[in-house]
Amino acid sequence: MKKTGNIALAALFAASLGSGTAMAADQQFISIGTGGVTGVYYPTGGAICRLVNKNRKEHGIRCSAESTGGSIYNINTIRAGELEFGVAQSDWQYHAYNGTSKFEDQGAFKDLRAVFSVHPEPVTVIASDSSGVKELADVKGKRMNIGNPGSGTRGTWEVIEEAMGWSRSDLKLAAEMKSAETGQAVCDGKIDAYFWLVGHPSALTQESLATCDAHLVHVKGPAIDKLVKENSFYRKAKIPAGMYNNKEDIETFGVGATFVSSATVPDKVVYTVVKAVFENFDDFKKLHPAFNNLTEKEMITDAISAPLHPGAVKYYKERGWM
Ligand code: GLU
Repeated sequence: MKKTGNIALAALFAASLGSGTAMAADQQFISIGTGGVTGVYYPTGGAICRLVNKNRKEHGIRCSAESTGGSIYNINTIRAGELEFGVAQSDWQYHAYNGTSKFEDQGAFKDLRAVFSVHPEPVTVIASDSSGVKELADVKGKRMNIGNPGSGTRGTWEVIEEAMGWSRSDLKLAAEMKSAETGQAVCDGKIDAYFWLVGHPSALTQESLATCDAHLVHVKGPAIDKLVKENSFYRKAKIPAGMYNNKEDIETFGVGATFVSSATVPDKVVYTVVKAVFENFDDFKKLHPAFNNLTEKEMITDAISAPLHPGAVKYYKERGWM
């Protein structure tokens, strides 16, 4: 009896080992490129992966979110086949797909695919109170962080700079720190202001405005009106009164954060990721306060300029959304 029992146990053990090996072989790893750890892209990638990984035993896909330099880095790395997914600003999604602006030299990335859009990202300027900066025009002659190369922030700064008729030397210092380093630099008086496109509330913005003598700045005027009028991916935006230490609405303009992939990523993978998010949509929205106002309908239509990935379309059709 005992012996039989042991054999049965051994057989069971072997069987479970066997299936374990099969599972490991079937397992697929996917990576999402995000941004700095104190931004909103990083927790966005984390939220998506958390929902995907919840059912990884069933679908065999294991997801990880990587901190990166931001939008343009993510798009280029997807293009190189080294990331399956990334979070990217809608303006850079547009330019990458069309081969315009910063993507003119590389040519259009025709395999770029949109999956869905996420939170709005207003242009956000945080200035120290001692800098005297009250609106965008005042940053001329000041020390400002314009974003690390590879960030969407940096790309959009170059567009704004041109729209304002400025050159790089119009800033006293154009710092190129990563977003995670900028808050401390403003607090320490090393720079007068930092600039980024980010969802709200964001951890870094919150920390700067709560712990240093700093304030948000309006980003408006004729040059901005012209940019918004001429480019479909820009829109007027507000950072609502009371979001941080601001007593009034901050008027600015912005883009949308979007979740993108490549046509070379299999439909099944994209379908699985999209399903994990929308089947757990209430949980997803709770994973970051910047997701509060998201709706399914807007996420599959707004801020999307590359074609939707067929794996995503399959799921949206099943839900009757398309
Ligand atoms: N929009 C920023 C960029 O692409 C990143 C914002 C974030 O990390 O949440 O540079």
